[in-house]
Amino acid sequence: MFVATHAAIGALIGEALPTHPVVAFVLAFIVHFFTDMIPHGDTHLYRGFADGTKMKKAILIQSVDSVVALAFIIYLFTRVVVHQRIAVVMGVVGGVLPDALAASYELFHFKWLKGFHKFHLTFHNFINKRTGDLPLIGGMIMEVGILTTLLFFVI
Ligand SMILES: [Zn+2]
Repeated sequence: MFVATHAAIGALIGEALPTHPVVAFVLAFIVHFFTDMIPHGDTHLYRGFADGTKMKKAILIQSVDSVVALAFIIYLFTRVVVHQRIAVVMGVVGGVLPDALAASYELFHFKWLKGFHKFHLTFHNFINKRTGDLPLIGGMIMEVGILTTLLFFVI
């Protein structure tokens, strides 16, 4: 899923648990894996990144995704009422942390993240390996729809 989508889900969890930021963090972290199970079209892109054939395309899409997520987070910081801010931030951090850890492994090959990376990919590919993934453009359209729907509830 897009980082922006995970951030929006985390923010929504934080908004739902305004007095429980640690629970929001943990719940958003766990929910990340289950939302990644939904086929979302990036399997071929990931393989292209991993084998170097679509590295520029993957980096471009990831960069745009990160900028959108950052804009969303900045917007939240300027909008969310103070008593919810910590829970929302913790939800966002918990929601995006699995991908940050996975990306750290991809880029720097930290051995201590190898098991986590494999665990993350297991969820990511849980349905894809049985049914196949969506085409990238179909997955992106679906995610924009999901993200737009989530933002309707968060904003
Ligand atoms: Zn993920």
